[in-house]
Amino acid sequence: MDRFAETEGKRAHDPLYSPRRAARATATGFPVGEHGEVLTDALIVGAGPAGLAVAACLTMRDVPYALLERHGCIASLWRHRTYRRLRLHLPKQYCELPQMPFPASYPEYPSREQFLDYLEEYLRYFGIRPFFRQEVVSAEFDGEFWCVRTKDVIVAAGIDGGNEEAVLASAGTSEYRSKWLVVATGENAEPVLPEIDGIDMFKGEVMHSCEYRSGEGYQGKKVLVVGCGNSGMEVSLDLSNHNVHTSMVVRDTVHVLPREIMGLSTFRLSLWLLMYLSVQTVDRILLLLTRLVLGDTAQFGIPRPSIGPMELKQVCGKTPVLDVGTISKIKSGDIKVLPGIQSFREHGVEFIDGRIEDFDVVILATGYKSNVPYWLKENSFFSEKDGFPRKPNEWKGKNGLYAAGFSRRGLLGVSTDATNIADDIKQCWNDIGYEKHKTK
Ligand SMILES: Cc1cc2nc3c(=O)[nH]c(=O)nc-3n(C[C@H](O)[C@H](O)[C@H](O)COP(=O)(O)OP(=O)(O)OC[C@H]3O[C@@H](n4cnc5c(N)ncnc54)[C@H](O)[C@@H]3O)c2cc1C
Repeated sequence: MDRFAETEGKRAHDPLYSPRRAARATATGFPVGEHGEVLTDALIVGAGPAGLAVAACLTMRDVPYALLERHGCIASLWRHRTYRRLRLHLPKQYCELPQMPFPASYPEYPSREQFLDYLEEYLRYFGIRPFFRQEVVSAEFDGEFWCVRTKDVIVAAGIDGGNEEAVLASAGTSEYRSKWLVVATGENAEPVLPEIDGIDMFKGEVMHSCEYRSGEGYQGKKVLVVGCGNSGMEVSLDLSNHNVHTSMVVRDTVHVLPREIMGLSTFRLSLWLLMYLSVQTVDRILLLLTRLVLGDTAQFGIPRPSIGPMELKQVCGKTPVLDVGTISKIKSGDIKVLPGIQSFREHGVEFIDGRIEDFDVVILATGYKSNVPYWLKENSFFSEKDGFPRKPNEWKGKNGLYAAGFSRRGLLGVSTDATNIADDIKQCWNDIGYEKHKTK
């Protein structure tokens, strides 16, 4: 399907359309305004799974859009910031985007490569053509339209498209004006790098887990993984599988659940139980089963929060870690669990219990954050503190502002948001078209 040919056909209903503007079309195919700004219908920022899902849903509803992405590829998080052993944590049926199931040949937990192939196919199937290397640096509502400014991103030759993250530098700027702005820049837009006392004096290698690809090349080294979320646990497992001397810092309490219990996905089991039982009862059942499968995790240095895993998710959005083998490596002593870090030293780390150990490499599996507060000049819908919508599960703000993929429910949440947003924009688009014809 050629989206631009299709777009032309819809100009008759386009509230932004005028023949004079159309005479000045940019290379994007969209008309330009008096001051050179590109005039689009809906504007989506971010070509990750959420941005692609919104684009596909708008295509299915015949609403034209422009999709801006700072990198030179789709799903840059999955392509450039993930380790090679990564698989979807949840069964595939909970991770598919609207209107297109995963191929039947895919396993229950598709690999990173399979997920990327699926997204490329999604792009092709819906004729989605993102505008790449357009980093949104500001967006503001002027009373009628969203005015969005981008920087053109230049990529160092030979890096983009490979396995490395693109080097981002910027040259020219562009401006877009749109009735509807869909923020799909992700919950994980930027890595979080904690300030730990003395980290600058450490002579070894320090990296964020988003730079880690595999344990190859670390043999013979002492590696410390800081953090025990899904990334920290899996990076530790991967290092240990490559016979690397691995330690993992566990500072806080965390719920670790087996990915499967008696061959059944723990996630699927929880959803099923939640249909019939209270969240507290479901938590009691899950923790009992988990203890049978994994044992008492507190005994090997991973204490549990006082609130159960599902209730904790509901109350503060904290996702339980799904174990894919790390706990057994901890039990066998292949992965050592250490408490919080007091400070770094030249060749190692002092822990809060007074222990001092040497390390060659430190991997900060310390999570990610939203980048929305850096560029969106709006703070009634999005919080300026964490860059998430202020109310949980909220996808619609004022003046045509939307959030796709910020519900802390992974790809399942992405699909729901995309469908809701596209329905809402379609409704407004019809209403505006109708008003326009009425006033003619
Ligand atoms: C290691 C890891 C494993 C995960 N595994 C799972 C899993 O198994 N199942 C699951 O459901 N979820 C998983 N997640 C969560 C995952 O992030 C989401 O499910 C999914 O990637 C969300 O898609 P998204 O489009 O909202 O965000 P992203 O995938 O982060 O995409 C956002 C896009 O926006 C672009 N962007 C950001 N800022 C700008 C800007 N200013 N201008 C232009 N473009 C911009 C980015 O380059 C990116 O391409 C995982 C996350 C990580 C980090």
